Amino acid sequence: MSLRSLARYDRDRVPRVGEHAVVIGASIAGLLAARVLADAFERVTLLERDPVDETDGRRRGVPQARHVHALLVAGQVTIEDLLPGFADELVAAGALNLDAMSEFSLHVAGGFVAPGPIRVPMYFASRPLIERCLRDRVTAHDGVTLRGGCQVVQPVTRDGDDAVAGVEMLVDGRREQVDADLVVDATGRSTRLPTWLEHLGYAPPPVEQVEVDLVYATCQLPRDADDRRAVLVLPHAPRTRGAALFPMEHDRWLLTFGGMHGDHPTPDVDGLRAFAEGLPVPLFADLLEDQPLASPDIARYHFPALRRHRYDKLKASPEGLLAVGDAVASFNPVYGQGMSVAALEALLLHHTLAEHGSEDGLARRFYARSAWLVEDAWNLAAGGDFQFPQTQGDKPPGTDLINRYVHRLQRKAHTDGQLNDAFGRVASMEHRPTSLFRPRVAWRVLRPGRGDRATTAGDRPAAHRVG
Ligand SMILES: Cc1cc2nc3c(=O)[nH]c(=O)nc-3n(C[C@H](O)[C@H](O)[C@H](O)COP(=O)(O)OP(=O)(O)OC[C@H]3O[C@@H](n4cnc5c(N)ncnc54)[C@H](O)[C@@H]3O)c2cc1C
Repeated sequence: MSLRSLARYDRDRVPRVGEHAVVIGASIAGLLAARVLADAFERVTLLERDPVDETDGRRRGVPQARHVHALLVAGQVTIEDLLPGFADELVAAGALNLDAMSEFSLHVAGGFVAPGPIRVPMYFASRPLIERCLRDRVTAHDGVTLRGGCQVVQPVTRDGDDAVAGVEMLVDGRREQVDADLVVDATGRSTRLPTWLEHLGYAPPPVEQVEVDLVYATCQLPRDADDRRAVLVLPHAPRTRGAALFPMEHDRWLLTFGGMHGDHPTPDVDGLRAFAEGLPVPLFADLLEDQPLASPDIARYHFPALRRHRYDKLKASPEGLLAVGDAVASFNPVYGQGMSVAALEALLLHHTLAEHGSEDGLARRFYARSAWLVEDAWNLAAGGDFQFPQTQGDKPPGTDLINRYVHRLQRKAHTDGQLNDAFGRVASMEHRPTSLFRPRVAWRVLRPGRGDRATTAGDRPAAHRVG
């Protein structure tokens, strides 16, 4: 499932479903869920464990926020539908609006891809800025309240009733109960929902995992205001390391290094330099050589495995409780899918509320729809990870065959902008992966010619020199 295969947001289709919905976790998935729930419930309360009055955007609950976060086209378009004017607000707050086809250089399968034929606007900002703009908009919405410093400890049911009737939480060390008609878990990778279900007498969902042993290390560099380069070098077997240089607000770059399967960057300047030397593009090592960091601290994040909770396979679950975002599935971050999956899930929640709002089985119906969305994103990410023989875990069917085809496509995209466009639309979740097998794409991939062997044509990006 992708952006193109979904009906657009339509406020008028949603009936009033209930009095109060509670969302646990006020990060990207929680905020977007709250936005669509506000159409169906009189009141929506976001309960967030972190204080919400932070100034620089750093908070304990989202340690990944210090690393590059790409907002894919599907996420950006969906957020704009839910919150009209969001992109302009992001740019007014300092984000950069780039044309992904001409200003964003992607290095994959041994070379840079050729620019595609159509302009693709993409927004670059730090993750804290994206979250802050989203939070400002969602909390300004009628009926939405955000409470910080609330650690939810479990959902609660009423005596003699299986349905979830609210949550219990700790606020300043005191227990407090909040009643709700619907509870949404948006607590991310550290979700405790499987355990909560067991406490309520239900089986936890089956879990799928793909082990990648990835470490990110990120620093910030000063940037000339008119230097708008964005460069992404993806790991490509047998090379387990990659890097991203993304422009952000305050005339800075975020420079993230990522290494899989034990090939980890050390989070100090010498470690980053040594790591950069092993990349196929000299830009990253040159930048570290030429200028001091914009701030002394280097952030590190260890991501051991992709994880997917199969709530769609549960035979029974309590009414009034569902999960979204990373609490359902978290993907290898190098593919930049998480925020966009969260946005598309919000759209699917909207459609589920529009069609079945006050009927029983909201969670079951939502998971049945969103499973297709998560499946496509999962197969793309997990499939890509299985190009490495070291990757262990649940391998999607057909992965090896698809990887051979995609590898050929990516090599041909070094000189064929149409193929870059076709792949970019899948990677950005606008189109389904099956679109790569349509005849007009397949013949470009399979016809003999350039890209059958390693090319040198793609060793420089078409749009700008990067090293
Ligand atoms: C290193 C890294 C890089 C990434 N890069 C990208 C990228 O380029 N593009 C992209 O789209 N995605 C990326 N992602 C994924 C992205 O960060 C997430 O998909 C996105 O933040 C949505 O997650 P979420 O809202 O479900 O959960 P999270 O962002 O993890 O937020 C969970 C929230 O729940 C709160 N919480 C937790 N427990 C409780 C509790 N008991 N009570 C109350 N509150 C609670 C936390 O404080 C937090 O605010 C990356 C992830 C990582 C790890």
